[in-house]
Amino acid sequence: MFRKILLAVDGSSHSDLAVDYAGKLAAAFDATLLIVHAYGQTSDLLGYDDIEKRVAARKITGQGVIDKARKRLADSSATITEDLLEGPEAEAILAAAATQKVDLVVMGTRGLGAIKGMLFGSISHKVAQHVHCPVMLIR
Ligand code: ATP
Ligand code: MG
Repeated sequence: MFRKILLAVDGSSHSDLAVDYAGKLAAAFDATLLIVHAYGQTSDLLGYDDIEKRVAARKITGQGVIDKARKRLADSSATITEDLLEGPEAEAILAAAATQKVDLVVMGTRGLGAIKGMLFGSISHKVAQHVHCPVMLIR
């Protein structure tokens, strides 16, 4: 039923929960798990004279988020691939889901954002609204 599952991570506790669900789902369905994280779009940095350094730092931090998810999946039997994407975040996740022809997207309902009281974060909201396939928002 699910052959390729996209797991979107931001390193938050919600995202960690999504990692656990996605790992178990991928193992149960013998699916490939594609971990993605999107770092902030480079155009945000226009005007800085050390733009390359800042982009490199974003990539390192982003790769760290993916590595953390991979560690959490160490016991999963799923085949795991990864993609570090450049933002804007929701658009990058949607583009990866479409290009990679995934069957399911798994993500947290909320993330690192500080505003409590809202059920969805802006990224989970946008992805759930526009993605071509089923989406599982973990809470
Ligand atoms: P907001 O960012 O709007 O303040 P939030 O941080 O609470 O709100 P989201 O950012 O929508 O909520 O996070 C929901 C889920 O989306 C996370 O648990 C994670 O699975 C995924 N996600 C968030 N940011 C990224 C990102 N940069 N790359 C990949 N996945 C992400
Ligand atoms: Mg967020």
